[in-house]
Amino acid sequence: MISQKSMAAAALLRNYTTTGRIVAGVRTSPGLSAHHSSINFLTANRARRYLCRASATHDEEAAAKAAAINADNGAPTIFDKIISKEIPSAIVYEDDKVLAFKDINPVAPVHVLVIPKFRDGLTQLGKAEQRHGEILGQLLYAARIVAEKEGILEGFRVVINNGPSACQSVYHLHLHVLGGRQMHWPPG
Ligand code: 5GP
Repeated sequence: MISQKSMAAAALLRNYTTTGRIVAGVRTSPGLSAHHSSINFLTANRARRYLCRASATHDEEAAAKAAAINADNGAPTIFDKIISKEIPSAIVYEDDKVLAFKDINPVAPVHVLVIPKFRDGLTQLGKAEQRHGEILGQLLYAARIVAEKEGILEGFRVVINNGPSACQSVYHLHLHVLGGRQMHWPPG
């Protein structure tokens, strides 16, 4: 019998225009229709990630906008639970202002997130004010420390996704430190 999760995932896929990449990803999951566990990876965040890699459609734009709706309501994000260690993470670097931990869904051999421990209104880079200059500098310097610790100082990329059109999915400012493979330009 098809579980509710399977049906939800199928509906999710239906709702979005499936590109070759998404279809291929699902087809390689063995027993998709029989075992819902094979599509458990399609959490909202993960699905959004797939969508943002795909060509833009109105549905995709709507999904990205949906993630931004509660951006500034002051509610804690998943990163608050990581900072408080309520949710475990693989910490790469930490000081009194900054935390760096491995991304749960890496897109490169090295993929570390660098975040401020105190959000202080920085849900996204676009909310930065002059008073944030010091922490912004500290985050960038922490990215360099992470790159050195991870052995990618010779070549790495720092990315900040800002807002729905950049596919930001967590509204607590974060830098992605990416490396360990050849990067290409322009980014998708
Ligand atoms: P954004 O899409 O907002 O630029 O990036 C958010 C990142 O947070 C994503 O790359 C996503 O994989 C990562 N992420 C979301 N939830 C968790 C989590 O619980 N733990 C870790 N380590 N990373 C997470």
